[in-house]
Amino acid sequence: MQIHSPSELDRLGDEIAELSAHLDAATARLLALIREFDARGGWNTGFRSCAAWLSWRVGLDLGAARERVRVARALETLPLIAQALAGGQLSYAKVRALTRVATPETEGRLLAVGRAGTAAHVERIVRGWRRVDRKAEAREGARRHASRGLQVYQDEDGMVVVRGRLEPQVGALLVQALTAAREALYQRARAPDGDFGHGGVSAETPAMAQQQADALALLAETALHRGLDPGAPGERYQVVVHVDAQVLADPVQPGQSVLEDGARVSPETSRRLGCDASRVVMRHDDDGRLLEIGARTRTIPPALRRALHHRDRGCRFPGCGVSNGQGHHLRHWAQGGPTTLTNLALLCRRHHRAVHEEGYQVERGPDGALRFRRPDGRALPEVPSIAVVGDPVEVLRARHASNGLRIDARTACAGWLGERLDLVWAIDVLYPRAKKASPCRSSELGSPPTHPPSASLARGATAHPLQAG
Ligand SMILES: [Zn+2]
Ligand SMILES: [Zn+2]
Repeated sequence: MQIHSPSELDRLGDEIAELSAHLDAATARLLALIREFDARGGWNTGFRSCAAWLSWRVGLDLGAARERVRVARALETLPLIAQALAGGQLSYAKVRALTRVATPETEGRLLAVGRAGTAAHVERIVRGWRRVDRKAEAREGARRHASRGLQVYQDEDGMVVVRGRLEPQVGALLVQALTAAREALYQRARAPDGDFGHGGVSAETPAMAQQQADALALLAETALHRGLDPGAPGERYQVVVHVDAQVLADPVQPGQSVLEDGARVSPETSRRLGCDASRVVMRHDDDGRLLEIGARTRTIPPALRRALHHRDRGCRFPGCGVSNGQGHHLRHWAQGGPTTLTNLALLCRRHHRAVHEEGYQVERGPDGALRFRRPDGRALPEVPSIAVVGDPVEVLRARHASNGLRIDARTACAGWLGERLDLVWAIDVLYPRAKKASPCRSSELGSPPTHPPSASLARGATAHPLQAG
């Protein structure tokens, strides 16, 4: 066993502290890059979100990736905390906690807490802060809930007027449903080549308000027609497509590909919808008269679907893994592809669309592994390789030095001197909306309280209760 002298161990400890501060400073840079990448939609190349992209590209678990994106976005409006992280003075752990509650109005006070306290103090203060925030939010929520309402009445000319106030989540639901209905009514009706209908006459698209009204009608009809009880989830979003066999086999072939209401959909969409669906084969004679209707069958029988779910677990698109999926035929059944496990892959709705309508490709290699390609043909690896050139510590030191950043073993040191944290008191002093109820008024924040001298985050500080050491 090797024995270190205390000074040697001190140096080791200093090195750990210094490198940690360097890493935090580098994390600030990383978050700034993530923020820009996110804002400019760099991840929008087949991935569901910036977090999904991060998880795929740098190997973070999805939870950690979401947290980075959240913190990156939050820091945009919190310049003081961002700066402290960039200077290596505040650890990423503290920044994560602080950004959960900080606003531009309160970040100054919370930064002082971050500088003065340990990570555990910061975590506790933030939790206490959120409790107070939640109480305020609950009051606000109750007020909003009480103000909800919807009036439907007939105007003098017979038109029905709808006016209402909905809670945010209900409103979001309504907006989503209206959008879906509007798309169903107007976007699908438009052929991709700009041909709006028969005889080359472009049907005029109504104004947005008119589209919304039509969408609401569709929602009402759908609700009543299907019954308010949606039934089995498989039938909830039933879409009926009529498509000619030769179109399914080869999308460039002429032939019909229409929804039940006559709206045209692209052959690629028909192929996607047909990949994993109920299928009824009808035979027509040359004049279009119906000769024969086959029995309704699932393109992927239930037992095979269970086996597919068991094997693939979730969407197989790189970095996705969403558990609800559709069975995709690597070679479409309409082209003679067999419905077997080797010819199937589970894909989520989003990625099933990507491989049918957005030009992404997937095939099974000779080794049995799936290979995905971007629309431009570049491979989309399951796990991208990440190469670091040179000694990462030296790289960080050199970069930070060239940016004029001086980081040493004391840079991230908390100002805490070992005193007990008085949480109730600390929140009382810190929380802006708690000021009125608190005996410590805002005017006292800058002056010494009258308690006996003790220390920074405990009741009775010698100076400003949040003073950093
Ligand atoms: Zn498919
Ligand atoms: Zn997916």
